[in-house]
Amino acid sequence: MRDLGRACRGASAGPTSTVWRAKGTWRDSAGYTHFRNRGPTFAALDPGTLGIVFAGCCLGAYSARTAFAQQVPLSKRKHVLLVSEDKEIEMGRDAFKEVLQLSQGGKVLSKRHPLTRKVAKVGSRLTAEASPSGLKGWGGYVDHMRKQRWDFVVIDSPVVNACVLPGGRVCVFTGLLKRLQSDDELAFILGHEIGHVVARHAAEKVSTVVSGVILSIITSLFFDFSAGALYQLMVSLPYSRQMEDEADVIGLHLMSLACFDFRRAPLAMSRIQSGKEASGLSEYFSTHPGTDHRIERLANAAKAMVAPEKCWSQSAWSF
Ligand SMILES: [Zn+2]
Repeated sequence: MRDLGRACRGASAGPTSTVWRAKGTWRDSAGYTHFRNRGPTFAALDPGTLGIVFAGCCLGAYSARTAFAQQVPLSKRKHVLLVSEDKEIEMGRDAFKEVLQLSQGGKVLSKRHPLTRKVAKVGSRLTAEASPSGLKGWGGYVDHMRKQRWDFVVIDSPVVNACVLPGGRVCVFTGLLKRLQSDDELAFILGHEIGHVVARHAAEKVSTVVSGVILSIITSLFFDFSAGALYQLMVSLPYSRQMEDEADVIGLHLMSLACFDFRRAPLAMSRIQSGKEASGLSEYFSTHPGTDHRIERLANAAKAMVAPEKCWSQSAWSF
């Protein structure tokens, strides 16, 4: 996906000033000759044709939005998913190799290792609430939760990060676990990752890239520039930030349903953030953007929530 992203950005590079030397080539201000994009240029199209192209693109985008739109549970935000649930799960299986590569030589701890058992124990309380029946009342699309086969993997590596793959494999690095001091803090990290699956964020990310590529191809047919990079900046990045917030809120609600103390979530985030600069360990923040004011947003969201009655007898919730 990163290579695909780079390809999109590469395709967006276009001439700022051109001197036409021959059909199909152009020379930039530094004197280098480039091959020109194939197809008619913006200038070559009459307003009528442009109007038809524009109307066709709008109609296509509207049809795609109608045909492939789904609603995110809880937030009720509509997103367009161009990837089937089965394909999404298949991609998740393939991506595990990449996670291992990013672990800086880390090894997967056995299922019997105390850390793996601890993560699985906390995680299974959360996933028990993340079934379609558990999420009843949240609204949005939740049928895909039936297909998740939850698997909690701990990777022994100094990397401070956690991630989830479509299909239900949650990966946590020991570098991150060392920073957490309670099951509630761990539950926030795991709840956030499970939240990405509930909201089908992986499929949304892929769909955004696919849409960008399609848009790049269409624009390159008619214009001397590609809107791919612009599309990524305007749509993809804000969505990423939005997705992180969505996963946070879903995670908090899963914590609540599973009787974890969701008021600990801001503390967990600040523990990860503290010492980030000194240690140079910023992996979590490179894959979880939007940390500005995130602790504050978490604290506000937690303040607005009330623990379910079934949890009140527990010490954390002694009202
Ligand atoms: Zn995240």
